[in-house]
Amino acid sequence: MKLKEICGCIHWHTTFSDGECGYEEIIRAAQNAGIDYICVTDHMTLEGQGAGWEGVYGGLLVHTGYEHEDEKDENHYLALGVNKLAEGLTEPQEYINRIKKMGGAGFIAHPTECRSVTKGLPPPYPWTKWDVTGFDGIEIWNQVSDWIEHLDCLRSDPIRMILRLFSPTRLLRDAPKELLAKWDDMNLTRFVSAIGGVDAHNRKIKICGPFIYQVFKVKEEMRGVRTHLFVDAAKWAGGDGADAAKMSGVLVDAMRNGRGFISNCSHGDARGCEMFLSDGSGAIQYPGRWGDAQPPLSLPLTMNVKLTRKAKIMLIRNGKVIKSTSSKNAGWTITEPGVYRIEARRGGSAWIYSNPFPVGQYPIRSE
Ligand SMILES: [Zn+2]
Ligand SMILES: [Zn+2]
Repeated sequence: MKLKEICGCIHWHTTFSDGECGYEEIIRAAQNAGIDYICVTDHMTLEGQGAGWEGVYGGLLVHTGYEHEDEKDENHYLALGVNKLAEGLTEPQEYINRIKKMGGAGFIAHPTECRSVTKGLPPPYPWTKWDVTGFDGIEIWNQVSDWIEHLDCLRSDPIRMILRLFSPTRLLRDAPKELLAKWDDMNLTRFVSAIGGVDAHNRKIKICGPFIYQVFKVKEEMRGVRTHLFVDAAKWAGGDGADAAKMSGVLVDAMRNGRGFISNCSHGDARGCEMFLSDGSGAIQYPGRWGDAQPPLSLPLTMNVKLTRKAKIMLIRNGKVIKSTSSKNAGWTITEPGVYRIEARRGGSAWIYSNPFPVGQYPIRSE
């Protein structure tokens, strides 16, 4: 199978819920950014679908899912690949099950969101029901949560704060450490994929008098957290008149199976970066779960990393960093089963998080 990398932004709110930009503006910005897809996920509505916005616009796929929330406005869950809401359900396990039954893919949104500064800001919306099962993945990096959670420099470092207002994506830091640990732990038992979310609302803030400033402009939002996916090139045929439903199926399937990586584009456009396992026969395997599409390889293996810029590259096995180097490329021998993944950092902040490479049979608990 010939693979193609597609790169896009997930988790967008529009004027159909509490976002301040409409589809038209978002589509224009995505086309200018040259990305391959966007996923709009308004709160508890699929109005974007009803209004006919789903489609292929040149090389851009616009996919509409939605964000489900419980009665207390907690436990937000991104549902993709569905054409109906999980109506009337307020228990997380119930809406997880219903979304799965409808053929959708579901991702726990901003699971460990917290607020170091609370004055004038909306409250955090964390995931509280960790005993649930059956979700497909986790939004390990939420752009807006990262930005808000690090607003504590307001008093200690006003210059950094001003930069934060004018160039928010450049100052994003990392996915929360405790969340990464939780995700690594889950992956020892079953495959849990990861996506990066923007959570764009494009709010306009009134600073004083008539002066209104939009911190997160659409264009700026698209320069931050992106999710890169490897899909079957033959099934991803863009262009006007392309079958949007078919392409949405390919997109959602790749997300559900974690076939790719997450990046912060502000630290360098990560399109063209690769990380894959290879064995002695020359067979290769990209991150994620592939089933028959890429048969499992047998040990020993090589973990190959090829980046477009120099970074601190780390190889992680079962949640622990086992190798690291500062380079554009890496090649490490793997002799033991485990759940492996790659992280790359630039300038002290996260640049890339790959999805896991499971090596061996689940549950992978061997130390
Ligand atoms: Zn949310
Ligand atoms: Zn949201």
